[in-house]
Amino acid sequence: MLRRVPFCLLLIAIAIAPLDATAAEKPTLRAGAAMVDITPPLGELVVGNWVPIPAQHIHDPLHAKCLILDDGKNRIGFVVCDNVGISREIWDEAREQIDRAGAIDGDNLLMSATHTHSATRATSEKYRPILVAGIVKAVAEAVENLEPAKIGWGSGEEPSEVFNRRWHIGDERHRRNPFGGVDTVRMNPPSGHPTLIKPAGPVDPEISFISVQSIDGRPISLMANYSLHYVGGMGKGEVSADYFGVFSERIGELLKASDSDKPFVGILTNGTSGDVNNINFRDRGRPYKPYEKMTEVAHKVADKVIDAHAKIEFQEWVPLSIAHRDLTLDVRKPDAEMQAYFASIKALPEGAEEYHRHQKSYAGRVQRLLEGPDQWDVLLQAVRIGDLTIAAIPFEVFTQIGLDIKEKAPFADAFTIELANGSYGYLPTPAQHKLGGYETWMGTNRVQLDASDRITETLLELMQDLK
Ligand SMILES: [Zn+2]
Repeated sequence: MLRRVPFCLLLIAIAIAPLDATAAEKPTLRAGAAMVDITPPLGELVVGNWVPIPAQHIHDPLHAKCLILDDGKNRIGFVVCDNVGISREIWDEAREQIDRAGAIDGDNLLMSATHTHSATRATSEKYRPILVAGIVKAVAEAVENLEPAKIGWGSGEEPSEVFNRRWHIGDERHRRNPFGGVDTVRMNPPSGHPTLIKPAGPVDPEISFISVQSIDGRPISLMANYSLHYVGGMGKGEVSADYFGVFSERIGELLKASDSDKPFVGILTNGTSGDVNNINFRDRGRPYKPYEKMTEVAHKVADKVIDAHAKIEFQEWVPLSIAHRDLTLDVRKPDAEMQAYFASIKALPEGAEEYHRHQKSYAGRVQRLLEGPDQWDVLLQAVRIGDLTIAAIPFEVFTQIGLDIKEKAPFADAFTIELANGSYGYLPTPAQHKLGGYETWMGTNRVQLDASDRITETLLELMQDLK
């Protein structure tokens, strides 16, 4: 945990510094980046869809990436893994090992998953040690690569690739839920359906980014953030980092990052995309070949970053800090009526007509919530880089929440990284809970209905602490 030096002590420190210490009075910003291969062995289960499939082919490698920044007083960093979602226990296991290594305080790392749907299960006995070792190694190498650096940030927009996936739709049959009821909105409605009315929420077209270069202008890392769930379009059982991986390579090419003894590390983090995907439900357009669409989206996003990158100002030093807090949230539990409903579902004979095709699956999910803990402590973080702030939320966060944080954050610039430091399911706003739909269903969403308000409140307080 960070402790700020009281101002009076700072004055004393300056007062007793030798007169010729001009260099010491001008602190140096340093940065280092690294990436480590965390591709799973074949046979591990690809998760992120309704049915897990054993990995049969590696299309492109998965990585644990790390960017470390040091302002001479505080050392902070980002870890980003190609995975659909990583639980807090796994991040904490890596944090403990990082703490033992002693090069950086594990609490000073904002760790997140990209949410590629073509990676394998993080909790698997075989894969978990590979993942943890990859994170620890990426951090160690990034620290080793620290060098004097300059930093800049900015943003562009790409509105054409983000679509709110929750829709008001006339046809009631498309709004049924696994609890025996009818919702107001439907996630992923049938494309081009004649009764489509309008999307139920906003999108955020902004692509935020941080760019770090050596003093002589060699690109060290560029970390971007876009609020798009993922793109997909790979073959069955194929492992891929999705468009997050394509972007990372492409941005290096466009920045003309040359191979040196230190690697360039391109990173794309996930913004707040719990309800935003890449599908235009009004007009699905032409069919794409495998990997074609994700390449197109990644290149578009990279192009927009490069346009904006030409206009940013690099700074040779900025203050860095990070604040964090555990927030206790109540876990949702089924009431007696819902328990009775699912008992009747479980008692249905094999092959009986189903009200909803996932009713059995939700009977199981709800049961697990009933038997599980009553509360969770979720880790929230806020980072400060000069007059930019970055929030970290361990859920698949609805875009409205990210837009609110951007608007209310007490810094000139702000963005949010989701699925950071944990993975607790979807985080809708209370207003979206009222509309129903997949992301709000108990079992898909697992915490108290006003959780997003509590989280936003806490993050804004943390940001205020950083000021
Ligand atoms: Zn997802």
